[in-house]
Amino acid sequence: MSTQPTLAFIGAGNMARAIMGGLISNGYPAANIWATGTQLDKMADLKQQGLHTTTDNNAAVAAADIVILAVKPQILKTVAQSMAAVVQQHQPLIVSVAAGILCHSLEQWLGGNIALVRCMPNTPSLVQQGASGLYANPQVSATQRQQTEQVMQATGLALWVDKEPLLDAVTAVSGSGPAYYFLIMESMIAAGEKLGLSREAAQQLTIQTALGAADMARQSDVEPAELRRRVCSPNGTTEQAIKTFIAQGLPEIIDNGMQACSNRAQAMA
Ligand code: NAD
Repeated sequence: MSTQPTLAFIGAGNMARAIMGGLISNGYPAANIWATGTQLDKMADLKQQGLHTTTDNNAAVAAADIVILAVKPQILKTVAQSMAAVVQQHQPLIVSVAAGILCHSLEQWLGGNIALVRCMPNTPSLVQQGASGLYANPQVSATQRQQTEQVMQATGLALWVDKEPLLDAVTAVSGSGPAYYFLIMESMIAAGEKLGLSREAAQQLTIQTALGAADMARQSDVEPAELRRRVCSPNGTTEQAIKTFIAQGLPEIIDNGMQACSNRAQAMA
């Protein structure tokens, strides 16, 4: 018998599949994973891999130690309310990846007094390079925290915050962050083309540079600001670019954008 907790993914769409895929490739036993959806035939591939598939959310919840809520936020209330009785009876840990749904709403919909983790993942989770912020309500035990980390680390980095509102800051940094980098890449590709490179060459060089810079920053024991200073030789080419970015307010622009993102996350909750 496996000692790994049994997981039930309510909604087997993109985000659930990203997490399940990461778990399976890390050797998590497929027999310990349930996936639910509205149509069994859409989960045939999961069944073939040895997962339990069902259209009955309550059957999956009854079998699980950890229930991962991965349906769209707009239907979460109905889905949660329909499983409240089984949740109250079996008391699994609930992990919600739904954007913008607060703990107190989920607690209310699920009948109150539940161990609950709210998670803010991002789209690179789909290629196992995600960054997720996690918040646990006081009912979550130390073991359940570790188990949640194991699940969410299947898609990349998982980091705890100790206050729920900090998930809005996580949204501003990593939740929406991939789009900021896409915009920077877009601008670099366009500028590279303007300087005479083919679009394909500009794109390849830009993407590899983003990957290389991120990897260097991750492996380095100094902060990105120092890495940046080290590549700026006095009167050199890089310094010219950086001086122009700073003089034209790039740091303030990024700060303003992230403030706006966090304000929007607060207003939507
Ligand atoms: P998705 O549409 O790909 O998946 C949702 C799945 O739920 C579908 O497969 C659908 O068949 C299933 N479903 C619908 N009704 C159901 C029901 N009553 N019972 C069980 N399953 C049902 O959506 P997604 O992109 O995977 O998003 C899922 C959650 O993840 C959302 O709450 C979203 O906020 C969150 N999220 C996603 C991303 C992302 O990058 N995709 C990022 C951050 C957060």
